[in-house]
Amino acid sequence: EHGRRVFAGETTFLKGVVAMDGLPPDDRVEICFAGRSNVGKSSLINALTGRKGLARASNTPGRTQEINFFTLADFYIVDLPGYGFANAPVAVVERWQALMKNYLSGRANLRRAFLLIDARHGTKPVDDEIMGLLDRAAVPFQAVLTKVDKLKRGDLDRALERTRATLAQHPAAFPELVLTSSEKGEGIANLRAIIAGID
Ligand code: GDP
Repeated sequence: EHGRRVFAGETTFLKGVVAMDGLPPDDRVEICFAGRSNVGKSSLINALTGRKGLARASNTPGRTQEINFFTLADFYIVDLPGYGFANAPVAVVERWQALMKNYLSGRANLRRAFLLIDARHGTKPVDDEIMGLLDRAAVPFQAVLTKVDKLKRGDLDRALERTRATLAQHPAAFPELVLTSSEKGEGIANLRAIIAGID
């Protein structure tokens, strides 16, 4: 199937970018991953690409400010800096917001953002904020629930319902949610197929 074909290729790290003038040329289809720190973003990117250690968790606020570009087949895969660190200095938050605003509103080849939500925690006000940024930049985004292996069915259903209610308020949001567990491999093939179908 198409997802398997695209992801059969090697994903390679291209560059880390801290300012708009460092962005690679917008000559191929781009997708990006965003989410609160610790949401499971690097685990998911590693699971999708089959490369352990490719994307690294950024566990300190100082290391959160890089936009990392990877190439896979004819895609750019972009790992956006995690957000929502507790006690992050105001200057760090403001730098992140400025970088995100510039990137999201200025990237013509960006086809879709995948917004990761920890299934146990649901959407937080900071997630709502970035959804607003995506709305204003008219970047279609799709929510991905992570770590679904940690929830019982009933709790997962409630998380789904709450997340759907949040998404309904955002014009740029896809209504369909993607459920994933990087640990168990659940939903990974589905997400690969979704990505491979983007053109
Ligand atoms: P990041 O900061 O968003 O890149 O998050 P990481 O990928 O580093 O994951 C944060 C923590 O969540 C780590 O301890 C991971 O082992 C754990 N984690 C990530 N994905 C999953 C998952 O699908 N299931 C479970 N149970 N734990 C996960």
